Amino acid sequence: MSTTTQTRTNGRAPNHATPTFGNPDLPPQGRVNTQGNPESLRSDGPHNEVIESQFPSQMDPPATDISTQPFFWSSFNISPKRIQNGGWARELTSEDFAISEEIAGVNMHLAPGGIRELHWHQTGEWAIMTAGKCRITTIDAEGRPSVDDVEEGDLWFFPPGLPHSLQGLGPKGAEFVLAFDDGRQSESNTLLVTDWIAHTPPDVLSKNFGVPKEVFKNIPLNNLWIFQGEEPGELEADRAASRVERGTDPVIFRLSRSKPVRENSGGRIQVADSRNFKITTVAAALVTIEPGGMREMHWHPNADEWQYFLRGQARMTVFNTGPRATTNDFRPGDVGVVRKNFGHYVENTGKDVMQFLELFRSSRYEEVSLANWFSHLPPELLMQHLNLTREDVEMFPKGSRGVVPV
Ligand code: MN
Ligand code: MN
Repeated sequence: MSTTTQTRTNGRAPNHATPTFGNPDLPPQGRVNTQGNPESLRSDGPHNEVIESQFPSQMDPPATDISTQPFFWSSFNISPKRIQNGGWARELTSEDFAISEEIAGVNMHLAPGGIRELHWHQTGEWAIMTAGKCRITTIDAEGRPSVDDVEEGDLWFFPPGLPHSLQGLGPKGAEFVLAFDDGRQSESNTLLVTDWIAHTPPDVLSKNFGVPKEVFKNIPLNNLWIFQGEEPGELEADRAASRVERGTDPVIFRLSRSKPVRENSGGRIQVADSRNFKITTVAAALVTIEPGGMREMHWHPNADEWQYFLRGQARMTVFNTGPRATTNDFRPGDVGVVRKNFGHYVENTGKDVMQFLELFRSSRYEEVSLANWFSHLPPELLMQHLNLTREDVEMFPKGSRGVVPV
């Protein structure tokens, strides 16, 4: 009856097609093999059409996808918020998202004047501002303070153990994403100044600070974590009052205003690592891709990649041994993880600009571009691997482009 190659045949084993270009596996996978047999696609069991509509690549994977991999998609959009007067936070640790072993992420909002209380923790804290303005304070291991204001596209980095505070500024407060350089670190597991003061005998507080113990009689007995405070005054006044000196290594970096390391009609890549942001031990790349553009096929030899999607719509395919190839869709607020050395590419699937962050638990940003590698091989070697002619090879790009031009 059917003219397709995928029909049921009188009780015998299916007569599979020969693997083809674009559908290489045996037995073949993908919707393309169901033509003439729409019953193959039926899905009558319980399902959620609203969620499914957001994930076309999971519902209908490309015919080149094969096998499965541990989930590499998660999202702050589905993470429960801890809300207090003054702001909220939600997080994705390796408890929530198993593959995220090297980085834990936190998404936080502080109202104007809202304070994330003075604290410190075991891990480094990298952050990017995603909306509004924030005032941050810290002190380095030599006792030198910093007080800075940051806004959308700016980064900060606090090395492990160094204490800090965050406070939202007007008119809309601050929203930001934190990345801790340990997937198990939680924003609910930080050393809080109120906890320590409340759990120190009054006599010891008096002795330590050289003031009467009655000074402490109104301290909070439970920690504050996030609380509503007074909006601070001018930055320079706070700097003067904190006795900030010039010449310390900056704890902030204006990433979105930095010179791109790659830029063409398809988009750009801006990098912050220890070469231009000395203090950081977390490397970052901000990738901006025009409609129709694609972050080229590549991998990273030195660390897992933790991704945060800022705007637009994306589709990423991850390749590993097996072979395994899996495609997932990403939207703003989503998080992805690609293991070290796994091949991947990220397409802009929307009509607008798509932007995401690549983060690495390493002080240096490193990548291997497939196109760059090919362009630095003896042509005969590549021709024999892929059955190409010399003319074919001459059409390939002569190096890494980072983002494919459109
Ligand atoms: Mn912190
Ligand atoms: Mn990458």
